[in-house]
Amino acid sequence: MELADLVGRRPVPGGGLLMTLTRRCPLRCAHCSTSSTPDGEDTGVGPLTGFVRSFTPADRPGVVLFTGGEPLLLPAAVTALAREARRAGTRSAVLSGMFFARNGTVPARIMEAVTAVDHFSASLDAFHEREVPRAGVFRAVHRVLDAGTAASFHITGTGPDDPYLAEVTAAVRREFDDRVPMLVNETRPVGRAAAWAAPRTAVVDGGRVRPCPMAAWPVVAFDGTVVACCNQDVVDRRPVPRHLRLGHVAEDGWPQIHRRLLDSPLLRTIRTTGPSHPYARARHGAPTDRAPSASPALPGGPCAACRALPEHPAAAEAAGRAGSGPVGALLDRETARLQAEAGPAALLRRYGCAPYADLVSLAPTHRAAS
Ligand code: SF4
Repeated sequence: MELADLVGRRPVPGGGLLMTLTRRCPLRCAHCSTSSTPDGEDTGVGPLTGFVRSFTPADRPGVVLFTGGEPLLLPAAVTALAREARRAGTRSAVLSGMFFARNGTVPARIMEAVTAVDHFSASLDAFHEREVPRAGVFRAVHRVLDAGTAASFHITGTGPDDPYLAEVTAAVRREFDDRVPMLVNETRPVGRAAAWAAPRTAVVDGGRVRPCPMAAWPVVAFDGTVVACCNQDVVDRRPVPRHLRLGHVAEDGWPQIHRRLLDSPLLRTIRTTGPSHPYARARHGAPTDRAPSASPALPGGPCAACRALPEHPAAAEAAGRAGSGPVGALLDRETARLQAEAGPAALLRRYGCAPYADLVSLAPTHRAAS
């Protein structure tokens, strides 16, 4: 499974699932969005396995992405969960910080996990390079490719003008002969980066329609809670705003989580119009995509507005009304279809580092049989 297939599914509700295996990580990268440490907590292999066993060929996510912390601190769990998922037809991917690759080797237990999944993604950025040399990471990724697993790099920089991004993406293209795709992102002020990273340019959307595809894939958080999106405050803070909490892996299976994700009128509206639009409707009593002066940007941006919806009953009611019934379901499906048709690079122009978005579709070295 190639990176473009993975990213291309991101706007599809229930098209994928993000599963956090642990908050532990042996590295201490200064930009870590999850503030992972060597002593972080594990989510619990038992409940995660039970949850994956609830996938069926008729009702399953298309792909499950194992993340952390460092998921490959639990290579046997990655192997077992990937095999269990595949039984139902779900493909899998793992994102690693490459702690094992200082000398370019891939230990046998980790290689077993790498060959159990359908896609392997290696983190690479200036912070990781202080912990694991680039040459070791490149050698290890060559081994992954030689083992027959599709691979990509997940690269982070400070922004479009960061010279590191220009240098490292050119180095990857040279080393892998333009055949390994890249997802290039910008550092965000969350986790350990909260103290120093600049926020991205504020989105002054004035209530305009800006669909949020991040509410399409459930996320299993460190404590087993299943939330509706990957916003780090939603994943980390408790309690989770009620419209963004889908359940818990110890209590719910995929069919229940999937149904709540699809049927929630608020989530449909967030996926269809974004969270600011219902505030504008509540203020004006009608849809608007007019001037920001008529519908000023909400303090804290769209995600803060989204998390605060339960505290604003009029906006929550407007969101609920807009997303209910067959029309709400139809708009949700059509929004997902249009975004999926626009392709993975279009998604990354909005959510990643725009000038590098096309690198998601570099020609692969390996085509998965499935
Ligand atoms: S707008 Fe809401 S659903 Fe979308 S990423 Fe932000 S907090 Fe999550």
